[in-house]
Amino acid sequence: MQAPVRTLTILGATGSIGLSTLDVVARHPGRYRVFALAAHRRGDALAALCLRHSPRYAVLGDAQAADAMRETLAARGCGTEVLCGEAALAQVAAHPDVDTVMAAIVGAAGLTPAVAAARAGKRILLANKEALVMAGEVFLRACRDGGATVLPIDSEHNAIFQCLPAGQHTGVAVPGVRRILLTASGGPFRRASAAEMARATPEQACAHPNWSMGRKISVDSATMMNKGLELIEASYLFGLPESRLDVLVHPQSIVHSMVEYEDGSMLAQLGNPDMRTPIAHALAHPERIDSGVAPLSLATIGRLEFEAPDLQRFPCLRLAHEALRAGGAAPCVLNAANEVAVAAFLERRLRFTDIAGVAEAALRAAGARPAGADVEAVLETDREARALARHALERCAA
Ligand code: NAD
Ligand code: MG
Repeated sequence: MQAPVRTLTILGATGSIGLSTLDVVARHPGRYRVFALAAHRRGDALAALCLRHSPRYAVLGDAQAADAMRETLAARGCGTEVLCGEAALAQVAAHPDVDTVMAAIVGAAGLTPAVAAARAGKRILLANKEALVMAGEVFLRACRDGGATVLPIDSEHNAIFQCLPAGQHTGVAVPGVRRILLTASGGPFRRASAAEMARATPEQACAHPNWSMGRKISVDSATMMNKGLELIEASYLFGLPESRLDVLVHPQSIVHSMVEYEDGSMLAQLGNPDMRTPIAHALAHPERIDSGVAPLSLATIGRLEFEAPDLQRFPCLRLAHEALRAGGAAPCVLNAANEVAVAAFLERRLRFTDIAGVAEAALRAAGARPAGADVEAVLETDREARALARHALERCAA
């Protein structure tokens, strides 16, 4: 039987995940129709994607860039309608003609459109882990209320999803699962000394040994905050407490994560480190399609190594364990403070090793508080945490 044509909105289309998604989509003409593409400021890059994929809508965050893009598209005879602003993001995520939404905006900015897609009952391909970390309960409730399906894109969570039985419900623990093991590459500083890390530049932090990604997640991988955010993401997606989630450093990034069952079985998903595999898995689920990723040759790789993470040199991972244990608003505070600290590091206003200090100071200053009950309350906590982080940042810089 012919698979139904899926209509697709891609939020964060010009980013690393967005471009990989379009690469997979282009391999299957007739299977997917691109309905809307959204990006922040890079109108030139978005215009080039519109000329290639002819979506009905394009959305930019910046009004001036949107005006320039309208002119470019009109001159080339492209019929894509250019919209602008946050409301337009939610509109193309929840549009009745869309069935699948790739949520691949980086950071807290992705929350509102992801929740709009959830309320509208879409199939959500969730790459934007920050949305889940800051508002896990709110997002999952919106999915339940709207009848939305979540398919994880983060390679670890996609691997876990593949190792769990079919028909699992998002946020509900599967009986018989003892624990989940998230693998981590260890990033570019896996073997670096504390002194080397203190001198690390944005270029060094973004030079990931195995994955090619956006700059924010690359820095998060270098501090291992990425793995910390993924622990929290896993807790929400798979309904398990912190005590049943472990991190294992695996420098080859071939085993993407594992599920351990009560009977002692451990199931793993393996593949080359290329995000087109989880993207193709989620796009076609429950079918399988070609992703363009080269077959895995274990004989060529030869060795798969595993070691425990070093929480001394990677305090961001320790903070994430603590925030998950504390619950309430702590994950949201951690995420917001981390975004502020990473942006400052990328602008060379903060040392690499002070990212954890800023996040920790914001967590301590925020104290114990309940998780926001709705999107507005979560965004308020996010704003307050950013202010606390900026205050901590000034002290670091002074
Ligand atoms: P990226 O920086 O390459 O791309 C980010 C995209 O988001 C861009 O299209 C940008 O225009 C858009 N964007 C940024 N701010 C925005 C805003 N305020 N409003 C609207 N659009 C905005 O990032 P990426 O590496 O593609 O990561 C995207 C998300 O996927 C992140 O949450 C990341 O954690 C997650 N993720 C990425 C990878 C990877 O391999 N790159 C792997 C797992 C998870
Ligand atoms: Mg990941």
